[in-house]
Amino acid sequence: ESKIRIGIVGYGNLGKGAVAAIRQTTDLELVAVFTRREPESLNLDDPSIQVAHISDAADYQEKIDVMLLCGGSAHDLPEQTPHFASLFNTVDSFDTHAKIPEFYQSVNEVAEKNNTTAIISVGWDPGLFSINRVMADAILPNGENYTFWGKGLSQGHSDAVRRVSGVKNGVQYTIPADAAMEKVRSGENPDLSTAEKHRRVCYIVPEEGADQAAIENEIKTMPNYFADYDTEVNFITEEELKRDHSKAPHGGFVIRGGNTGDGNKQIYEFSLKLDSNPEFTASVLVAYARAAHRLSQEKQYGAKTVYDVAPGYISPRSAEELRKDYL
Ligand code: NDP
Repeated sequence: ESKIRIGIVGYGNLGKGAVAAIRQTTDLELVAVFTRREPESLNLDDPSIQVAHISDAADYQEKIDVMLLCGGSAHDLPEQTPHFASLFNTVDSFDTHAKIPEFYQSVNEVAEKNNTTAIISVGWDPGLFSINRVMADAILPNGENYTFWGKGLSQGHSDAVRRVSGVKNGVQYTIPADAAMEKVRSGENPDLSTAEKHRRVCYIVPEEGADQAAIENEIKTMPNYFADYDTEVNFITEEELKRDHSKAPHGGFVIRGGNTGDGNKQIYEFSLKLDSNPEFTASVLVAYARAAHRLSQEKQYGAKTVYDVAPGYISPRSAEELRKDYL
């Protein structure tokens, strides 16, 4: 059987992860990586991978079954997904939760008009976490959903600490608060604010001679980012930062405590513990590329979310094999 032909748009963390994830499949092949930069300027570890300029992508309509859109959610995807959905089946990881309804509308319009299938907001949150929130809620109507993030490196909060004066470099981890997790797992269904659910741990490389107490104070009192949280600030050297904090771990928990019958407690829990957020997220996109291809072959066009895709569609295994080995 012929392989599903994949293109990648955008070669950042996610794009690199997608190249690696496609390599681990036997039913997908990478046709080309598209970038807004000079194609020659990208240093791909595998010279056999074709790199093209994004403006030439339309020439590949007959050569690519699904485009994986690996641009950033803030500025790239709101333009790139509608554009590429007019030419290709697509999968993206748009993660600005509050804007997903309008993003869906704009992509759906284009995809319906051009007979393409565009699966939006794929990844782990939104993505696998979303599926589990819906499952838990549908199964246990009398209950409460909780999402905890971490341990994870937060890009936004790391940028914020790096802007503090006297800070040379630094990272920030978001970590679920143990006490809050325990309460939720006990089935109490407590009222918890985001700040009560998480704590923040920073590793800071100070500039030479910087006032560490002042840095710590400025971070801990920073409105929105840190002030409401239990925040810990650690000072380390540039070498330690490089050695211990250069990966992009993430993960988290979706937990629902519900009651059935005469008050029997039922706890639904799903969790992820990821060494590399972008490599995992890209692996989810790659699995959903199968679904985009299959849905398009069935003429199920338009924008779709993970809620619209049956699990069998993302599997490389046949329905028969799944019934036999996985049920
Ligand atoms: P990056 O910032 O690494 O890449 C975004 C784009 O920036 C790339 O597509 C690339 O486009 C460009 N770019 C990357 N590196 C460079 C560089 N050195 N110089 C110039 N341009 C560069 O973002 P990520 O790949 O880490 O993340 C992409 C999105 O994935 C995030 O915005 C986030 O919203 C989403 N995401 C979703 C998750 C989920 O669970 N749903 C989880 C994790 C991330 P080009 O090649 O065209 O220049």
